[in-house]
Amino acid sequence: MITVLCPYCAAEVVALEEIDDARIDAYVCAECGREFSVAAQLAYERGQLYYQAAVEIEQAAPRRRVKEDTPVFTDMLRNYQLAYSGLRVAFQFALPPLYQEIALEILADIMQRFLKRDLVSPLESSYWTSRVTAWKTDAEYTALQHKLRAGEGNFLRRWRWRMRRNQLARVLPKLRVRIAELERGIAFTELPYPQR
Ligand SMILES: [Zn+2]
Repeated sequence: MITVLCPYCAAEVVALEEIDDARIDAYVCAECGREFSVAAQLAYERGQLYYQAAVEIEQAAPRRRVKEDTPVFTDMLRNYQLAYSGLRVAFQFALPPLYQEIALEILADIMQRFLKRDLVSPLESSYWTSRVTAWKTDAEYTALQHKLRAGEGNFLRRWRWRMRRNQLARVLPKLRVRIAELERGIAFTELPYPQR
């Protein structure tokens, strides 16, 4: 049984099974009153749990290397695959920013593992890694913009920040175009609705 917490105040969503389909994507927290998608949180929680399980299996192996074609290996891979599908589903819904960041990092990590074993297309792998890059670039841009607006730093620093910000401003639209192209190349259709 998975517990779903409000992504803003961490209050537990009670009587999960009683939430109807109309409310599952626009649930209002009884504690803080903010709206979020229970469907997204469910898929996220599930994906995260499977990822944790996979990592634990890997870390328990001697020298942290699970031998291929062993039951432990199959089990580890199954957990990575379930984590992958859970987090992929979570992205179909509105995930709050902090969760998006964690989910993206996990997805990029899983992609690296899958790519080595031909379990994912290079297209899909670059899609998630590009999204991580875009996320980080965007965060750096926003932070620089904030510092510049707040009037922080001396002349030299501000000059460097401005240079970097302008550089990022040129990169960001290109990254977004690339992501949209990759998205079109991958069939993100018929994803399962998360089970409660
Ligand atoms: Zn809340």
